Amino acid sequence: MGNRIMLHRDHDNFEEHLKMSNGLTSVFIAVLVLSGSTLAQNKAEKEWMSWLASRDQGIHGRGAVGFCISDMPWTREGFVDEKDFVLRVIDGAREKLRWDVLNYNPTEEFVTFALDRFQNLINLFDEQYINEEAYQEWQSYLKKYGFSENPPMCQHHAVYLHPAGCVLCHDS
Ligand SMILES: [Zn+2]
Repeated sequence: MGNRIMLHRDHDNFEEHLKMSNGLTSVFIAVLVLSGSTLAQNKAEKEWMSWLASRDQGIHGRGAVGFCISDMPWTREGFVDEKDFVLRVIDGAREKLRWDVLNYNPTEEFVTFALDRFQNLINLFDEQYINEEAYQEWQSYLKKYGFSENPPMCQHHAVYLHPAGCVLCHDS
């Protein structure tokens, strides 16, 4: 099965999609959340990590966490900064930021493949495709679970939680 990440619903250039096995997806989300939880400085950036962490196969099921770049929590006002932040998070993941937290050794070749494709999708993403409805839904979801302040961190992994818990705890 696996999970697919694409630009937006109408984007049908399969060459540009990022298709990953379920196992690689878990590693991909883990290395991004580790990097981003270290780099995030403001509430919006922490919520971005919470959003990525919510792509949690331990909660949604294996092969059920694919997404569109347009569904990520972009805002029109913050678009440039948000894009810059995500690209820095990808760079951090490539530099193996906090990989020591993982209780396994990711296969670098696969992780690099996924990060390269993801970086390409982020670079290609045009703000006209921002899904503001998805952003509003995400914000009310956070609020419903008491995330009105900064999202809390997992005490064990020091990564931002999503409303149903820690993606790294659920992996192990
Ligand atoms: Zn944890």
